Amino acid sequence: MRLDPGLAELAARTKGFMPDDEAAALRQAAAAVAPGLWLEIGSYCGKSTVHLGSVAAEGGSHLVTLDHHHGSEENQPGWQWHDQSLIDPRTGRLDTLPSLRRTLSEAGLEGTVSVLVASTQQVAPWWTSPLTLLFLDGNHTEAVAQHDYAAFARHLLPGGLLAVHDVFPDPRDGGQPPWHVVQRALDEGTFTQVGTHGSLRLLERAAAEAVDPS
Ligand code: MG
Repeated sequence: MRLDPGLAELAARTKGFMPDDEAAALRQAAAAVAPGLWLEIGSYCGKSTVHLGSVAAEGGSHLVTLDHHHGSEENQPGWQWHDQSLIDPRTGRLDTLPSLRRTLSEAGLEGTVSVLVASTQQVAPWWTSPLTLLFLDGNHTEAVAQHDYAAFARHLLPGGLLAVHDVFPDPRDGGQPPWHVVQRALDEGTFTQVGTHGSLRLLERAAAEAVDPS
């Protein structure tokens, strides 16, 4: 589905790591999802939040975006994806929350998106809400990627969409943990792959097994 031109321009200048074609594939898949509660893991400055949030607003869904806002390993000083302008001068730490707030305010999505500032480890023990969409794009270490899948994918309702970003089957293209998560989801039999676009994988939660009435 097409993005409003103003939102497309905003998403384009918002810092982040999602190419336009992958964002379009994500929007298209999200538009087909049943209205409900959606969860994005890894907000950063809100680029993909604008894409997902615009679809949520149109379809009457609500999006929670979860991030501790201090950046992943690859965003820290000395690493490949570090951005000095995101350092809070008072603390010396990376802080992407102000950028996210500006993005959502400018997008007019503050009523559609709830911002949750915490680590996924903090939220996992108390999260109980059923989801119709889960977008995994948080910390890409093996331990955290596996944790985030185990903690939140189980809350997806049958027919719900699991989207995983930065999936690279070939280690020469990028880190392997998101690919391992996709393999796990398929191996466990709870998900089937319904789409792939660049490093984005789209999986659907299998329907609960039909009960034989006999
Ligand atoms: Mg990503």
